[in-house]
Amino acid sequence: MLAIRHSLDRFRLRSFVAGRTLHVDLSLAFSIEAKHRQNWEGEGFWGFKSALISLECGFEMQPGDAGFGGNGCLHEPGEFVRQEKPRYRRARGMNRQPFRAGSSSPSFSQQNCEEKAVPLCTEFDMAYFQSYSHVGIHEEMIKDHVRTETYRAAIMRHQSFIAGKVVVDVGCGTGILSIFCAQAGAKKVYAIDASQIAVQASEVVKANNLCDKVIVLHGRVEDVSIDEEVDVIISEWMGYMLLYESMLGSVITARDRWLKPGGLILPSHASLYMAPVTHPDRYRESIDFWRNVYGIDMSAMIPLAKQCAFEEPCIEMVTGENVLTWPFVVKYVDCYTVTIKELESVTAKYRFESMMRAPHHGFAFWFDVQFNGPAGVMGNHQLNPSQISSMDPSLNGSDQKKKRMKCDETLTLSTAPEDAPTHWQQTVIYFYDPIEVNQDQVIEGSITISQSKENARFLNIHLEYTSGGRSFVKESVMR
Ligand code: SAH
Repeated sequence: MLAIRHSLDRFRLRSFVAGRTLHVDLSLAFSIEAKHRQNWEGEGFWGFKSALISLECGFEMQPGDAGFGGNGCLHEPGEFVRQEKPRYRRARGMNRQPFRAGSSSPSFSQQNCEEKAVPLCTEFDMAYFQSYSHVGIHEEMIKDHVRTETYRAAIMRHQSFIAGKVVVDVGCGTGILSIFCAQAGAKKVYAIDASQIAVQASEVVKANNLCDKVIVLHGRVEDVSIDEEVDVIISEWMGYMLLYESMLGSVITARDRWLKPGGLILPSHASLYMAPVTHPDRYRESIDFWRNVYGIDMSAMIPLAKQCAFEEPCIEMVTGENVLTWPFVVKYVDCYTVTIKELESVTAKYRFESMMRAPHHGFAFWFDVQFNGPAGVMGNHQLNPSQISSMDPSLNGSDQKKKRMKCDETLTLSTAPEDAPTHWQQTVIYFYDPIEVNQDQVIEGSITISQSKENARFLNIHLEYTSGGRSFVKESVMR
């Protein structure tokens, strides 16, 4: 940390107030605190933590003047603080290092049973949990009725499995899912959250007379201890583009530490989809706008506008009309068996055939999660083999079902463009320049989504695409 404090100048003004001489001493000072950091390419830079400019002002009347007993002092600091504000899901994100494998249950996990060191809670983790201490994030999630009602329905759907059982809520936030589980008859719910919001969760539990059932543990899932095995894990861990925030790792940690063989995980399965999109309106508003601004040719702004608008993935709504083909499954996650290692980097090769002639502006990503039990659980609605094959990422995009064929009884929370909107919206990676595609034209390439080395809650996205004989690469970071 570098701290510089400096007095810029001092000056004395002389004035006459009510026939008396008034001396005003002004001093101007600044202080800067900066920290040496590294950017994504590993280059060092100085990041400003705070900058303070203060103007100090002292008055002095002539000796013997009534009403001014010496120096008065007025302090009026002007404060300019530039905070690094990461964007998380509802403002989520941050760092995670290797998780403790814990005592893995062979029926659920491929991990070995070696005790690994519990990862340190880094500065990134602190900022991540801090972002969840704000009421707004929780309000947004709870007001997302598609999300919250689907979770409630899933809990009620599995009531026979939850009643009389022990549940862990990984990242309980305000405690809402824990309370739903208590209402479904759970014997005990461990509601865990590392954010300060756990304090409010505790109050909410108290106010609803559930202290005998819901035990709020304020700490990281990786750090807290529970002295028993649990029957159910519930968690709302999904970030933008499913994997942003990397919170699924904490669910895996909880599963491997505490879940009984045959236990239930809600949600049980998740799929990340991608599809090529056309979005002329968006392009017009952000880019073409500069071609004629109040009659002035401001096209010189276009390279900067493209960089600012499209360098990073955008969280926004797309509609079914923007989507050029059936989607492709980039990653299918079975929460009963997925490993932390497997999530560090996900690569998939895709191939689409455009269903229309249109400018291709980029790719949209979205996800859905399903609420199934493990094999053999009563009331379990497993996917049948034909459903699994329809999600096989090795199939052509056009061979896949636009919306995965679902068993009627399977409860799904979907964030697809054609479904009811959620606070996750969709994630769009735009190209800097659109590509004109014809009907049936092939769009193919690969995508790699990996956790950033510096901060595993951020995603590095490497996108390769070839269309009409031209190939492109787009690198972006979701931070
Ligand atoms: N379950 C709540 C909140 C979901 S948001 C709801 O559905 O409304 C995710 C929550 O998980 C946040 O409050 C965050 O602080 C918490 N969280 C994320 N990773 C965690 C970890 N490793 N340990 C404890 N809490 C965690």
